[in-house]
Amino acid sequence: MGPDQALLYIVATPIGNLADMVPRAVEVLQCADLVAAEDTRHSQRLFSHFNIDTPLMAYHDHSDDKRTGQILQRLEQGQTVALISDAGTPLISDPGYRLVREARERGFRVVPIPGPCAFVAALSAAGLPSDRFSFEGFLPAKPGQRERALRELAGDTRTLVFYEAPHRVADTLDAMGLVFGGEREAVIAREVSKAFETFHLAPLKELAEWVRADSNQQRGEIVLLVRGAERRRDSELNPEAERIMKLLLAELPPKRAAALAAEITGVNKKALYNWSLEQK
Ligand code: SAM
Repeated sequence: MGPDQALLYIVATPIGNLADMVPRAVEVLQCADLVAAEDTRHSQRLFSHFNIDTPLMAYHDHSDDKRTGQILQRLEQGQTVALISDAGTPLISDPGYRLVREARERGFRVVPIPGPCAFVAALSAAGLPSDRFSFEGFLPAKPGQRERALRELAGDTRTLVFYEAPHRVADTLDAMGLVFGGEREAVIAREVSKAFETFHLAPLKELAEWVRADSNQQRGEIVLLVRGAERRRDSELNPEAERIMKLLLAELPPKRAAALAAEITGVNKKALYNWSLEQK
């Protein structure tokens, strides 16, 4: 490709089924001057299948600045470089952020070739609300840190989406049940687009038991999705404001109780007053 075509392509590749490779991805990988890949041996299989013989270079998150520098140098020479990861979309729980950032800062065009992504595929077929969601990637592996991360998400009303390693999935579902409550709905999406693709929706407690009872469910590649927390109705107060209002209402007229509770809790006086009227 000519010097005026210096481009960094970010190319999505299949997450299990080679037939999911988009034609534009094949074309870009065939025509690029260099392909930066997370694991060059792994990518060689993709290359053989699609008759791609473009030179491969290893690029991962621990790559030193020298590696990033070498790729940027190729761009400076007017070459076209494509970035792929082992599977799915680069930068989604995969390397590439530093490279994309630096390439953009130097004024190079960075062009995505959209395609497979495990969490998007899982979310699209899970049966949980998908209008608002939060992709959380991998939780911390250490139980204490994992629980803290889950606690921060406990009140989030969006569907929560996680990647999880198979040997941790049962413990993670137990921890989610403890923090979010065992009744909260969740889905395990396993081996998406592969021979043993499985989707199972159940309350967290049941889902954890189901996964523990069948070791096959603790194998392969896994996305976990959890329904968001119930949204508080506008007419509901937070439990502390409610407790204080109840105490004050036992002694004071509603207007006075609302004024005092507003000072104590910081909750809007009118909301407190309206709440007191609904209690009658
Ligand atoms: N960049 C990838 C993407 O676009 O989905 C994700 C890479 S991340 C290192 C790998 C994790 O993605 C796996 O541990 C698993 O949680 C999830 N994953 C990848 N392929 C999957 C599949 N076929 N089914 C379910 N989850 C998958």
